[in-house]
This record gives sequence, structure tokens and C-alpha cells, in this order.
Amino acid sequence: METLIIDGKKISQDIKDELKAEVEDLKKKGIEPGLAVILVGNNPASKVYVSNKKKACEYIGIRSFSYELPEETSEEELLKLIKDLNQTKEVHGILVQLPLPKHIDENKILLSIDPSKDVDCFHPYNVGMISIGELNGFLPCTPAGIIELIKRSQIEIEGKKCVVVGRSNIVGKPVANLLLRNNGTVTICHSRTKNLKEICKEADILVAAIGKANFITADMVKDGAVLIDVGINRLENGKLCGDIDFENCKDKAMAITPVPGGVGPMTIAMLMKNCVKAAIM
Ligand code: NDP
Repeated sequence: METLIIDGKKISQDIKDELKAEVEDLKKKGIEPGLAVILVGNNPASKVYVSNKKKACEYIGIRSFSYELPEETSEEELLKLIKDLNQTKEVHGILVQLPLPKHIDENKILLSIDPSKDVDCFHPYNVGMISIGELNGFLPCTPAGIIELIKRSQIEIEGKKCVVVGRSNIVGKPVANLLLRNNGTVTICHSRTKNLKEICKEADILVAAIGKANFITADMVKDGAVLIDVGINRLENGKLCGDIDFENCKDKAMAITPVPGGVGPMTIAMLMKNCVKAAIM
């Protein structure tokens, strides 16, 4: 059977179109979702991310409030802004683009966001809610995007052996949690894991969130596996590639996500979903 190349661009566009229709309905009821986006400093990659988030808001009909602050902004100033936004009725979601300049304590900032406006789902309250299996609040964007990609490709998670390589707070741990909530049998691997190849080879669903170009090779993949590639790596020739050796793994897989155009576009779509949710919660 031919391998399914999971089209993240198309699926994320479908989600954005669904949200656009939902927002039109909400506006008829007098509700206009609003997202505050805070960028501190001049990190070029962060500027691109923030601009893409604002564009997505515009497309869906979410009002965006933009705060572009200089690099030397103090922690106190940023905390004060967040405190104000926590109390602003028109702002339903608050997003602080990471990384922050080194003189600002990221944890302190993330903790200061009202959990009911924490659309990135980084606040320990929301992380904890996911851990205890309460999925009615915000879902972490990249992990939730991965689950959507799998489900919208009509792939069953229940009962499947799921292996996640990577244990970061942003991707590895939360995606493992969501797979578990969807009744997968989950193994989490990391840099100290022994027999990584053998463990990966048992996976029905393999999620790679490592940050190393083409790390997962064909000999680590079971025939008929579903391969989800979270990695974004820039090669010397300037091209982007994932953590999975796409060319050599794709013929073995039942389904695979490309890089770019797989998991990447889903993150913003799921952020938008959280913003709409925030307006009606
Ligand atoms: P981190 O660097 O925080 O985590 C990487 C993980 O990979 C760690 O848990 C590390 O293990 C593990 N690892 C590193 N080397 C090995 C190895 N040799 N064998 C097994 N495990 C290993 O990265 P992130 O989770 O933040 O991101 C991972 C990738 O996903 C990056 O390429 C990033 O750019 C991309 N990304 C993509 C997003 C998207 O929207 N598509 C969103 C977020 C990230 P240990 O804990 O032991 O160090």
C-alpha cells in the first residue's frame, strides 16, 4: 500500500477555516476573541513566529493586541503589563513569545499569566490539568496538533504502542501524556535510553522530538509504522529537515509527516483554537 504523507498544511488550513466560521458565529453573539502577543527584544526567529501568529489571528477574525518591547525591558515592567492584561476583558489569551532575554526569569513570567488566559498551555496549572487527564481546558499547541494530525488521518491511537523520543516540557512530555489519554501504550525515550533502536522498532506510532537532523533511520522503524516528525533542523545547504530520515523511512511507513509541512503548521492552528476556547470558557 502507498504511504500516506500526512499533509499538515491542509489539515491546519481546515482547522483555521472551522475556527473562522466559529468566530463569525461568536461575533453575532457579541463575543470577539482577543489575543495579546508580547515580544521582548529582537530575536529574528521570534519576530517571524509572532508575525505568523498575528496573520493567523487576522485570518480567523481574532483581535490581536501587539506588544513589541525593547530588549532592555525589565522583569518588573513585563510583570506589570501581564498583570494589566490579566484584568483586560477584551483580552482572552496572553502569549509571551519565548525565549525571553536572559535578565528575565521565564518561569516567573509564565507563572504570572492567569491560567484562564494561558493559551500556550505552559502554566503549571494547565500542565497539571493535562497530567490528571482533564482535557476540557487548553491543550498544549504542538502536542495537540500532533494528536489532530493522527486523528484526522483516520489513524487509531487506542491500544497502539507509541514511542516518543524526547522528553522536553514543550513537546516530549505533553505529547506522551496526550497519547496516553487517547489510550495509547506509551514509552518515552531520551538521551540516556538504552537500546533506543530496539524500542523505536516496536513502535506502531513513533514521535520524534529530538532536534537532530535525520536521527531516526530506516533500521529503527517497524514496517507499517506511523511516523510523526516534530524536529525542525536547518542543514548546511539552508534546507529544513526533520528528525526522521524521511527519504529512507517513508517506504517502510504506513504514514509519515514531512518537514516542512507536517507538524509545524499545526502549532499555530492549535494556538488559535485555544484563543477561541478562551473567549467562551
Ligand atoms: P529539547 O532540546 O528541549 O529536547 C530534545 C529531547 O531529545 C531531549 O529530551 C533529549 O534528551 C532528547 N535527545 C537528544 N539527543 C538524543 C539522543 N541521542 N537519543 C535520544 N534522545 C535524545 O527540544 P524540543 O523538545 O524543544 O524540540 C525538539 C525538536 O522539535 C526541535 O527540532 C525543535 O525545533 C522542534 N520543535 C518543533 C515545533 C513545531 O511546531 N513543529 C515546536 C517545538 C519544537 P535529554 O532530555 O536526555 O537531554
